[in-house]
Amino acid sequence: MADEQHDEQHKETGTGFLNPVAGFGVTFKAMFKKRLTEQYPEQPKTTAPRFHGRHQLNRHPDGLEKCVGCELCAWACPADAIYVEGADNTDEERYSPGERYGRVYQINYARCILCGLCIEACPTRALTMTNEFELADSSRANLIYTKEQLLAGLEEGMVDTPHAIHPGTDEQDYYRGLVTEAAPGTTRQVALSKGEVPQEAASDFGPGEPASEKVVGR
Ligand code: SF4
Ligand code: SF4
Repeated sequence: MADEQHDEQHKETGTGFLNPVAGFGVTFKAMFKKRLTEQYPEQPKTTAPRFHGRHQLNRHPDGLEKCVGCELCAWACPADAIYVEGADNTDEERYSPGERYGRVYQINYARCILCGLCIEACPTRALTMTNEFELADSSRANLIYTKEQLLAGLEEGMVDTPHAIHPGTDEQDYYRGLVTEAAPGTTRQVALSKGEVPQEAASDFGPGEPASEKVVGR
């Protein structure tokens, strides 16, 4: 009875003969289409110019940091992926032109959804996003990027922080674009808050030893 119904259907539709090969239709069509296979990672894909990738903490043209430690990015983040601790600059140890700087800055890429809300919230354009997308890691700890990892590299005319503000300028001048490079003679200050030892004190331990090792050996 069932076979009769089956034959009836084939007679009605007229497709019985083609059924065994009809399923290959999609396969045959795909054989003549352009291949979509990408040779990644041998040939990395170029992203769109405004692709949301890894973050970057930017610097002013003289190397001072743009982050003022205000935490607005952390408050804007829907994934609670940013941790910021601000601190006061001093004349002896200055990281940004104004009163405060970001002493601790971390982004947890195990949480981040790369939505970009944090960079919209940043009032100083300290935080932007790069096109870098290779962020995968097998360790959760490695996915927490520190300030040192996020801070932009030094370009020509910059001196690494901490260092003094450009003489004769104030914070507003930096945002007006009046500071275009580090003043002649600008040198990096000693980062006492990070446990660095001043040159004179370090020399008491003997020549050639890195300061960190001398502290360990006391
Ligand atoms: S991109 Fe989005 S999820 Fe990632 S840190 Fe910024 S606000 Fe949070
Ligand atoms: S990155 Fe921008 S929003 Fe975040 S703490 Fe620094 S200045 Fe504030």
